Amino acid sequence: MDRLDAFPTPPELVIDLDRVAAAYREFISALPGVAVHYAMKCNPHPEILGLLHALGGRFEIASAAELDALLAIGADPAQVLSSNPVKPLPHIARQHAAGVWRYSFDSEDELDKLAVAAPGAAVVVRLAAHQIRSGVPSEGKFGVDADHAVTLMLAARERGLRPYGAAFHVGSQMLLPHAWRAPLRAVGYLMSKLAAEDVFLQMVNLGGGFPARYTGKIPPMADYGAVIGAALADLPYPVAAVCEPGRALVAEAGTLHTTVIGTAVRGGRRWAHLDVGAFNGLMESLETGNELRFPVADSRAGAARDRFHLTGPTCDSQDTIMFDVELSADLRAGDRVTLGGTGAYTTVYASRFNGFDAPMIRCVTGVAIETSDDAAYCG
Ligand SMILES: *Cc1c(COP(=O)(O)O)cnc(C)c1O
Repeated sequence: MDRLDAFPTPPELVIDLDRVAAAYREFISALPGVAVHYAMKCNPHPEILGLLHALGGRFEIASAAELDALLAIGADPAQVLSSNPVKPLPHIARQHAAGVWRYSFDSEDELDKLAVAAPGAAVVVRLAAHQIRSGVPSEGKFGVDADHAVTLMLAARERGLRPYGAAFHVGSQMLLPHAWRAPLRAVGYLMSKLAAEDVFLQMVNLGGGFPARYTGKIPPMADYGAVIGAALADLPYPVAAVCEPGRALVAEAGTLHTTVIGTAVRGGRRWAHLDVGAFNGLMESLETGNELRFPVADSRAGAARDRFHLTGPTCDSQDTIMFDVELSADLRAGDRVTLGGTGAYTTVYASRFNGFDAPMIRCVTGVAIETSDDAAYCG
């Protein structure tokens, strides 16, 4: 055991803010005229929020605590979208008092709460959009079909609320740009039906779902822009378009630095145990049935390679990260392993289950942006 000194190093998630800025700029140039509201749940670190705010980005929230984090960085509540379709009543009241005026919903029950806690608010009906499987399936819970949405918008008007927009979310890490087509057709249908009732929408919310690059290729952002631009042009009348990217803006900026706490051979298969697993930072491994392939590298960078099952530190077998990952054949306790693409939906999900710490976040700038890092990584 020559590397005992490496053990006290706690796990760390390093966020390259230059890469967040680059992702944001690429995003807005691919979707010209579409306002970008960052879905802060995927990584609400204040430096990320502050950077996106400084670049002109806006935000999407689900709770009163998320709004507080935005007030702390000086964001204007009037530019914030409250996009959780079902909100606790006190959170609505708090957001309304602070100046948030646009709220998503998909039920009459929510309209009743909004009418009480945010009288006169602009409401955005959430449409269902889960016909195509995405890389990290996140849909199936929210949204109604377009006919139901018509009924709900008329119900909103009866309650003194303002029928204002339609929203959907195609599912996270959506690798098919044409996934936006069918929901936008449904928005068009809704607009036509409401026009007959003298209700005209002012906003369509394209949601999130735009992908980040893990191991393997993703379509260029321009392909998403082309599909969406064409579908928006087909709507019955022009409306303002907004979107709510989360993962696409921050995932690639994150690199998780972990330590190998031990290796083992079980039933002829090699295992590498890291100090981070599904429960203290890599929950999406569990959510995707270990299909999300983070780019991985190890500190030995040995020429001789072998396949390992990469798992976490707890006694629960559910915290495995990825199966059959290629690493240095002589990997052992104390070595460092980095996982790329870990800027989104990692530390936010982390618990201290079994007593293992969540990684601390450190934001950096001025690091050379690696553009061809695939060669150094293997998955
Ligand atoms: C989580 C969420 C997003 C962001 O999704 P990504 O797949 O990370 O882009 C956007 N909008 C809403 C309403 C969400 O709940």
